[in-house]
Amino acid sequence: MTDITSNAIDELHDLHSFLAIIQHLNVGVIVVDRKFTVRIWNSFMETNSGINGSHINGHCLYKFFPEVEHSWLKDKIIEVFTLETPIFSSWEQHQEVIKFKNNRPFTGSSMHMYINYTITPMRSITGKTDEVIIMLYDVTDEACSKKGLQEANNKLHQMSITDGLTGIFNRAYWEEALRHQFNYHVRTNNKVTLMMFDIDHFKHVNDTYGHPAGDAVLKEVCQILKKTIRGTDIAGRYGGEEFGVIFLDTTREQAYFVAERLRKTVEAHTVYHGDKAIKFTISIGLCSISDIITSAKDWLVRTDNSLYFSKEHGRNRTTQHGINDTEETMNVEIPLPPKTNKNN
Ligand code: GH3
Ligand code: MG
Ligand code: MG
Repeated sequence: MTDITSNAIDELHDLHSFLAIIQHLNVGVIVVDRKFTVRIWNSFMETNSGINGSHINGHCLYKFFPEVEHSWLKDKIIEVFTLETPIFSSWEQHQEVIKFKNNRPFTGSSMHMYINYTITPMRSITGKTDEVIIMLYDVTDEACSKKGLQEANNKLHQMSITDGLTGIFNRAYWEEALRHQFNYHVRTNNKVTLMMFDIDHFKHVNDTYGHPAGDAVLKEVCQILKKTIRGTDIAGRYGGEEFGVIFLDTTREQAYFVAERLRKTVEAHTVYHGDKAIKFTISIGLCSISDIITSAKDWLVRTDNSLYFSKEHGRNRTTQHGINDTEETMNVEIPLPPKTNKNN
């Protein structure tokens, strides 16, 4: 009789210790049954949700967190009851449904807590899974540093492909895009037109108004360009004051319309720099892709030839390759790649 009593006291003692451990874990612990009735709600949950265990225990989880009812969390809990296997869900895979405030005001950069979840079936002494245990791990620090790293990487990537002065693509990235679009055309035979343009007498702008004024002209010409082309067109700074645009899914006629609109807008525009009012124009070359074009380099050289035809014939004009330029621009000499010495 004494033994039975002392065993029962030992077991009660163990149970008490077990519950105390659960209460003081620095991890959220929720136990729910098949009807989503809360059975255990530990102190981590109380502190971070502001809901006392004595209030939520015995009530449906949805009553306090209505978002749970139509959420991934509900589906996962049902899955654990059905498959009787544990499930892990990281903060990157789900939207928060049990929202907590981030409780680290001095170090935390996030307004809310990022949480990893594990949901584990709890077998009763009869072997049935009547309840599941949901554990919530605060991974805000880890999530914030990962997001910070991702943002820094995105910024670095953006910087590595952007021209610092004008904000459009730099030459390396733009040339890569040109090669890509040439290869894409070879596979799909789509319509794509290349435009190159160059500011007329830009040296004169620098010499007359100064280099910073020249920079202001470069920036504004790109602002006009961005407003003139579509978001899908690919614009890059090819050289000092020479720019390229790849017009996707665009015929020569359509590109000519856009080019002329750009040329006329630039012609009508005035750049104000300090007390100086600067007028300038651009010359344009256009070349639609066709079977005679053998490479991205060939395409670029032909377009450039048309641009220089515009230069030689008065500037402030648009030349369409093979339409209103001369035979000479059609005779394109592509520099051969350097020969490799087989003995090397
Ligand atoms: P053309 O009409 O034949 O194109 O004559 P141009 O004077 O525009 O051409 P040229 O090639 O003689 O001069 C281009 C000038 O562009 C020379 C160079 O100093 C200037 N330039 C190149 N990059 C920049 C830049 O980033 N900022 C400024 N302000 N000027 C630049
Ligand atoms: Mg120029
Ligand atoms: Mg130039």
